[in-house]
Amino acid sequence: MSTSAPPSYRRVMLKISGEALMGDQGFGLHPPTVQRIAHEVKAVHDDGVEVCMVIGGGNIFRGLSGSAQGMERTTADYMGMLATVMNALGMQSALEQLGIHTRVISAIPMDQVCEPYIRRRAVRHLEKKRVCIFAAGTGNPYFTTDTAATLRASEMGCEGVFKGTKVDGVYDKDPKKFPDAKRYQTVSYDEALEKNLGVMDATAIALARDNKLPIIVFSLDEPGGFRTILGGRGTYTRVQG
Ligand code: UDP
Repeated sequence: MSTSAPPSYRRVMLKISGEALMGDQGFGLHPPTVQRIAHEVKAVHDDGVEVCMVIGGGNIFRGLSGSAQGMERTTADYMGMLATVMNALGMQSALEQLGIHTRVISAIPMDQVCEPYIRRRAVRHLEKKRVCIFAAGTGNPYFTTDTAATLRASEMGCEGVFKGTKVDGVYDKDPKKFPDAKRYQTVSYDEALEKNLGVMDATAIALARDNKLPIIVFSLDEPGGFRTILGGRGTYTRVQG
């Protein structure tokens, strides 16, 4: 059990990229990495926090790279959305091995595999302390899973979108290339958009801004990091109004 302060949030959205699940493999799902992230979610769930998740698909397929290779863009995007369903099922399996009840809820109905998205039903799952993993993005081509995370977080009444990355926040320049890069403690939505700080894509940030939904960028590589950040400690950047 971690010794950090208990979380001060009631309901949150955790957004991770598909790449976060691939470990050092360079492709697909790396089961020990998926299990490690499942433990991060369990620590927070055990504190009574209601957890929503959106997982990207970039470890399997990205619509833009498909269309760059000559594939029709919307078809490539649907392939990307299907990739997110695979990742969601992988995460569901890891969470259930830890005894956590979960639901995979897809924006594209596929009843034999997971539940279709029905807002009221999803809210009920959260109230019953089931982790809801929202799959297939927004269900529309030309969007990203960052936008899906912001959209579902708004619909579910989450208090923030927690974007778990490899970096512990948002910097003014790439911290891997520039040792003098400075991390923002807080940054406004408008500044993140204007300076193209790479928090999320512009659609996602604008949606968060319009719904006054904070985005908290933190590193998922720190063990126990998600719980620490929910307790208001650790290193992170908060994007807000
Ligand atoms: N995608 C989409 N609509 C959505 C969400 C995702 O078309 O609402 C497709 C898009 O092709 C994208 C792919 O799914 O490239 C994977 O999602 P994303 O790139 O957001 O994954 P991440 O970078 O977070 O792993």
